[in-house]
Amino acid sequence: MHICVIGAGYVGLITGVCFAEFGLNVTCVDNDEKKIRLMKKGIVPFYEPGLEELLQRNLKASRIHFTTNITEGVDSSLVIFIAVGTPPRGDGFADMRHIEEVAKEIAKHINSYKVIATKSTVPVGTGEKLRQIISKNLKENVDFDIVSNPEFLREGSGIEDFMRPNRVVIGASSPQAVAIMRDLYRPLYLIETPFVITDVKTAELIKYASNAFLATKISFINEIANLCEAVGADVQVVAKAMGLDQRIGPKFLHAGPGYGGSCFPKDTLALLQIAKDRGMDLEIVKAVISVNKNQRERMVKKIKDAVGTLKGKTIGVLGLSFKPNTNDIREAPSIYIIERLLKEGAKIKAYDPAAITDAKKIFSEIAYLRDPYDAVKGADAVVIVTEWNQFRNLDLQKIRSLVRGDFFFDLRNIYEPDKVRKLGFNYFSVGRGGV
Ligand code: NAD
Repeated sequence: MHICVIGAGYVGLITGVCFAEFGLNVTCVDNDEKKIRLMKKGIVPFYEPGLEELLQRNLKASRIHFTTNITEGVDSSLVIFIAVGTPPRGDGFADMRHIEEVAKEIAKHINSYKVIATKSTVPVGTGEKLRQIISKNLKENVDFDIVSNPEFLREGSGIEDFMRPNRVVIGASSPQAVAIMRDLYRPLYLIETPFVITDVKTAELIKYASNAFLATKISFINEIANLCEAVGADVQVVAKAMGLDQRIGPKFLHAGPGYGGSCFPKDTLALLQIAKDRGMDLEIVKAVISVNKNQRERMVKKIKDAVGTLKGKTIGVLGLSFKPNTNDIREAPSIYIIERLLKEGAKIKAYDPAAITDAKKIFSEIAYLRDPYDAVKGADAVVIVTEWNQFRNLDLQKIRSLVRGDFFFDLRNIYEPDKVRKLGFNYFSVGRGGV
């Protein structure tokens, strides 16, 4: 079967490569010529573990092709996935420009029955809107079906998440489209992946509800962490014991500087707007967003309260990406924290294993170093913002000898407080015993 994926970013490229790995013939379309040139050569334009190898294997087997020409993709494909970005507009609504643009383009090139499936996270009602746009712009009188097939993969473990998802959601009104989608995902049926087959609107809402719930867990544990600081309790132990309750589960109960990334911040805002459009207020989601904002500022306050004036102080920041194993810095806590520290007059030296090129587009005034030790050399304070594995086992003795000051802010709780303090650091973490 031939399929086409329009938008070859994190989601689109992973989707395309994984479907090619399942044996399908895939055409990836993107309007970014530079990206397409790289991908044709087997180079992944972003950091995603394992993806380049898989891309090269499927390029070699001629199961995946890249083009900027949407006609090439649409012509031969039975299923067309839309995976373009839906970034937030200034008012919190998801910006649907790219989706609508693509829908019009698809309509112009459809010449036989197609299934058009959205992988992008889109507001409830988008499926219906797409149907109208496509119907209006069709050049020939051909039949098509709209499907919502939201994607739940996580950057950093995208391949594993795509190949072994917790569930596949298919929202459609036509049995034919459902049968075609089931066929596409047949390899997952064989490993007994649960499939949720529903209507388009419900599928669209499942994605927002899932992300909002995960964001809720993060904001919840961050509030508890703040309370732990006030009462002198340890949030790590609270979270562990909570997580042992199977009704709660251990995931996403890690206190820290708040959530970031390209999904939770924009999807929680968009969900509020979806509700507002229907005259509803989602009180919990509102609180989640507000707690998250405050949490980032609390991290800055933690640093300021301890170090005192930041004017002229050098801060060594370890970790820029919004989470480990990605170069993605969209809405990363590091951006907010660095912006605020700069505003307070601090100098920043930073290191990240994958996100430096991206960070340079935002901050030209900070120093980017080649390894964590260079980044903390001569610093008054060390701040760990992202829990990359390589930061979990730093040579702390070496760091102690390199820094000028003794402040160590572990915003991801990756070190044992006693161990770090024994080395002479003034150690601070999040929600652990009043530190
Ligand atoms: P991205 O920005 O990495 O990729 C989007 C791609 O679409 C870019 O390469 C861009 O050049 C391309 N594009 C834009 N307009 C186009 C057009 N008219 N024609 C062809 N290509 C076009 O975005 P992403 O992170 O992959 O996210 C895509 C969607 O998937 C979003 O709706 C997002 O919310 C959702 N999603 C993302 C993740 C994630 O972890 N990144 C997970 C699940 C769902």
